[in-house]
Amino acid sequence: MADGLTKSGGDKPGGDKPSLSAEALRAKAEGLSIDAAIIAVGSELLTPHKVDTNSLFITQVLNDLGIAVAHKAIVGDNRAELAAQVAHGLARHQVLILTGGLGPTDDDLTREVVAGHLGLTMDEDPAIVDAIERRFAARGWKMPAVNRRQALVPRGATVLANPNGTAPGLWIEHDGAAIALLPGPPREMKPMMDGEVRTRLAPFAGLVRLHRRVIRVSGRGESAVEEMVQPIYSGWLNQSPPIETTILAGLGQVELHLLTQATDVDGAAIALDAAVNQITTVMGADVVSVDGRELEAVVGDLLRQRRWHVALAESCTGGLATSRLTDIPGSSDYVERSVVAYSNRSKVELLGVGEALIAEHGAVSEPVAVAMATGIRDRAGAAVGVGITGIAGPGGGSEHKPVGTVCIAVAGRDTRVRTFRFPGGREMVKALSANTAIDMLRRLLLEV
Ligand code: AMP
Ligand code: MG
Repeated sequence: MADGLTKSGGDKPGGDKPSLSAEALRAKAEGLSIDAAIIAVGSELLTPHKVDTNSLFITQVLNDLGIAVAHKAIVGDNRAELAAQVAHGLARHQVLILTGGLGPTDDDLTREVVAGHLGLTMDEDPAIVDAIERRFAARGWKMPAVNRRQALVPRGATVLANPNGTAPGLWIEHDGAAIALLPGPPREMKPMMDGEVRTRLAPFAGLVRLHRRVIRVSGRGESAVEEMVQPIYSGWLNQSPPIETTILAGLGQVELHLLTQATDVDGAAIALDAAVNQITTVMGADVVSVDGRELEAVVGDLLRQRRWHVALAESCTGGLATSRLTDIPGSSDYVERSVVAYSNRSKVELLGVGEALIAEHGAVSEPVAVAMATGIRDRAGAAVGVGITGIAGPGGGSEHKPVGTVCIAVAGRDTRVRTFRFPGGREMVKALSANTAIDMLRRLLLEV
């Protein structure tokens, strides 16, 4: 797709100011929430090679406006599939955002299918043709005839300028619904969604806003968390404003998402604060953060507050724990050094682990993990050291120490060491080990 169209053509009459339909106005007056459907169009999005990322960005902007996404679909460049999704979206939702399929070629159907569904005739917009022609001419080229398709505008639609490409976007208000057609390339779609579409959607969104809190929990599985918090959050749906709870399991972490829709911003904040408090009371130190911060950011803040440096000695994780800690900008304030001590010899040479200790207990053992943590701590002159040694698999396990056996030590003023049996394959064992080591560091810093 050619780049650099600066102005894609004039707006259609009446398109400058979004006019609210009676229905939308009533919903707004009553503080009712509206929701949206997103359709990502493009056959490449149905292959194993290309992911639809546009809908995530679109969702972010919609959520900012207090519009929840109730449905999203990915369809190929297929007329019938697309028409079915457009029909579904408009039958059930007040906002419909489409992305992709606005190109100049035969397989780009979005414009045509939406206009067809709404029964709108399309007219060629001479201003758009002119702009595209000039864009090509500036490069010494003649506009291919196929590009005229991009100048077709359904009657009553507003043209959304695309400064980053030839395909203009379209904004259509129809029977109380707002419909946006956006280009597929993210660098063209994003400024359009964040600019003109956001502005035009704002009056539709009314006064209701979406409020979300994320509680990160470490050291407990999804079902354990569910068991502890279900009796609490089950009551939240019947209160005002109601709070919806979603539990998401990650590697070694569980996230609780608390979501409420309300017109009263302060009221929503008070309700969410109270809900978060109820959870932290029950979960205690297992709560990593209630403000969206990642585990490694929380640990970083704790280290910085205490003016502590950390040094790590990693074996089976191959540096993964250090990698995560250093994902945080400014982590040089508290990460002193890290050593990947994979072989026994490196544990002896670089960390001062006793050869006899390894011979007696094995490289994967609590005494060796402790010697790694204290060894790196003392050599670095750091306040706290971390030692990780384990069997990531698939080979190397034994009856006594199966694959997934990992010993982790954190050594500050006092020393803590634990042995874990992590499930899963090599990648998962490494990820769980790194996560657990960072969480043990967090708990040591909190003295819990
Ligand atoms: P189109 O507007 O259909 O011509 O889109 C052109 C290109 O934009 C595609 O080849 C993709 O590389 C990219 N694209 C389209 N849709 C998406 C999407 N939903 N998420 C991310 N990239 C996309
Ligand atoms: Mg396409």
